[in-house]
Amino acid sequence: MYPNRWWFWASALILAWLLAGSAVAQTVVSRLNLVSGPERTRITLDLSQKVEPHTFLLADPYRAVVDLPQVAFRWAEALPTPAGGPVAGFRHGQFKPGTSRLVVDLRQPMQIVQAQVLPPGSGQSWRMVLDLAPITRDAFLAAIGTSSATAAVPPKPPQPTQDGQMPRRSDGRRTVILDPGHGGIDPGATGVGGIREKALTLEIAQDLKRVLEASGRYHVVLTRTDDSFIRLRERIQIARQAQGEIFLSLHADALADTNFRGMTIYTLSDKASDAEAEALAQRENKAELIAGVDLTDESPEVASILIDLAQRETMNLSARLAGHLVQELSKEAQLLRNGHRFAGFAVLKAPDIPSALVELGYLSNRQDSQQLVQPAYRRRLGQAILRSLDQFFKSRPGGRAG
Ligand SMILES: [Zn+2]
Repeated sequence: MYPNRWWFWASALILAWLLAGSAVAQTVVSRLNLVSGPERTRITLDLSQKVEPHTFLLADPYRAVVDLPQVAFRWAEALPTPAGGPVAGFRHGQFKPGTSRLVVDLRQPMQIVQAQVLPPGSGQSWRMVLDLAPITRDAFLAAIGTSSATAAVPPKPPQPTQDGQMPRRSDGRRTVILDPGHGGIDPGATGVGGIREKALTLEIAQDLKRVLEASGRYHVVLTRTDDSFIRLRERIQIARQAQGEIFLSLHADALADTNFRGMTIYTLSDKASDAEAEALAQRENKAELIAGVDLTDESPEVASILIDLAQRETMNLSARLAGHLVQELSKEAQLLRNGHRFAGFAVLKAPDIPSALVELGYLSNRQDSQQLVQPAYRRRLGQAILRSLDQFFKSRPGGRAG
């Protein structure tokens, strides 16, 4: 009666088998062990299944990097915090989709003697063994000279129209880029109660996107939408590819002085407004170092923070944007006495997009960190930023806000 019935069940079985196969359990990394001797340092990782590690070295500061296919770091016990010896510490997290990374900070040049994954012994898990041995700086530099990372070619920026305005979207909305600071292997600051900058900035960016888009006047693109590491230059590339007309980077710093609180708006400058702004920019620019990115092959223009002529006009617009932000945000939040400051932030270096970095508050301060997780406070911040953007576009010659 139904000659195709057999085929139906056969296909269903094959489909079920394929679905089961695609849901392969993620590898769990559960333990990190460190043994340091004068001649050899051994780091072991316990793994729930076999993975293929990729290891390499980076200089200044000295680091050994282990890349794994995406794994879950679920430590059964706290990571070692070595007070002496060649290993200074460990960082780990997602480096990019599909890749997890462990960065081993070294106090001296070391070479990788072996990196292999051993099958489980009796009652044990798979184990990755990384052996390091001291070498001279010259030998270290010669060893990393063999690495070949190719620098990405920056995409062509959108061309301004005749009246100097960036091309508008066909639906008339302005494109705003929100850049949640940090992510993945780079956690940013940690504050009161263990609150993490990378998680907070992502949540606030998502809230802010909803507020801005609800106005009908803005199209919002986030530089990251999950807990992944994005390089500073990639954030700028995302903004330019999306034809962003405004770039807002969101951060929340932490300081040793827990009494310090308040919001600050930063724009790019090759001369910092004050020593604190300078130190902050240095901390925020460290993302690449934290994540173990190889910068040796990058062109000096990209690596340098010097500002070229093309950026001058954008810098004036950025300063105006900051002025509007300070004016509106000061109605809702406590701003530092000097609400608008400037320094050499690498992430603000898009030559053609007015950019500002908002330090939302200090996670080291109890009031600031409590406030930043309150939905009502976030809504007020969102409304204030919406008003500042409206004013910015109204005040731009030839520009209209919605
Ligand atoms: Zn930050």
